[in-house]
Amino acid sequence: MKKESIYGLPLEQLIEWLQDHGQKKSRALKVWDWLYRKRVTNFSEMTDLNPECLELLTDHFILQSLREHTSQESVDGTIKFLFRLPDDNLIETVLMRHKFGSSVCVTTQVGCNIGCSFCASGLLTKHRDLSGSEIVEQIMKVQEYMDNARQGEKVSHVVVMGIGEPFDNYINVMDALRIIIDHKGLAIPGRGITISTSGLADKIYEFADSDLKVNLAISLHAPNNELREQIMKINRVYPLEKIIQAVEYYLAKTKRRITLEYILLKDLNDQREHALQLVSLIKNIQQLINVNLIPYNPVDEHPQYQRSDHETMLAFYDVLKKHGINCSIRLEHGRDIEAACGQLRSKQVKANQG
Ligand code: SF4
Repeated sequence: MKKESIYGLPLEQLIEWLQDHGQKKSRALKVWDWLYRKRVTNFSEMTDLNPECLELLTDHFILQSLREHTSQESVDGTIKFLFRLPDDNLIETVLMRHKFGSSVCVTTQVGCNIGCSFCASGLLTKHRDLSGSEIVEQIMKVQEYMDNARQGEKVSHVVVMGIGEPFDNYINVMDALRIIIDHKGLAIPGRGITISTSGLADKIYEFADSDLKVNLAISLHAPNNELREQIMKINRVYPLEKIIQAVEYYLAKTKRRITLEYILLKDLNDQREHALQLVSLIKNIQQLINVNLIPYNPVDEHPQYQRSDHETMLAFYDVLKKHGINCSIRLEHGRDIEAACGQLRSKQVKANQG
């Protein structure tokens, strides 16, 4: 019998499963307490469960399916983990330390099919979607690392911005987020969670209609279709007009702000004219928009893309600010390690292939 990871079960499902197997509802609450509050790594440590319940869990579920393959730590405290999945695929998860807490950037797919031309992950096409449990477990593994360091740190924020397009694995990602938010479990509040999409407009509508109250970010990276198509081929399917329409729907429906991510690429999308085009693109919705300008992390595989000069970034920022747009330049984490999304994994996969 193939055992499932217990981290894939929302509390309600665990209650139902245990009741179907002759156990009381209260045992499910205890199990969740052991999993997410006491954070044991073995069922045998759940010492107040009756032997029958323990045997059931051990026979049907596994607790740890991810294994740490390697990790890199930056001087700023950022840690990039490479985890090995049961089928031997490797995924990246990143821990970032901020003044406001500790956030974990999770991966949602093995590889990615969106093919953004600046991205190290896009070089390795999608192999498969991650399950909900594999997404939750990334956070548990990082939390385990922090628990072992005994500094009392707790994951306070989650960003769904690692390898993969989360909206291309919509159901599993939504299931994972419900488990992560549940106040009886990890209890990470929705306002501390951000999901980032390359702009799958159909899913933005669906997400707006869902009951999940988490933040949304959209990777825009260009202010016109011609340029965006050059950088992100997904723009052929979802051009800017479609994305902006979906964003308008989302804003009207949820009344929550959206972040637009914009990677600044030297001499390509970082000029004054681009900033002005961006202003014009979002002028009708700018009251509910934050623009996050991101300094590019060059990767060996894409030498055509370079980081914008500091002055150019500031000039771009100034244009947006002058037009009343809420805007920031993203603080960088882990620049001294393989910091760009997918770099560590892509190097490891290539080394294995070589
Ligand atoms: S930037 Fe994100 S969506 Fe684009 S290829 Fe990389 S992982 Fe995929």
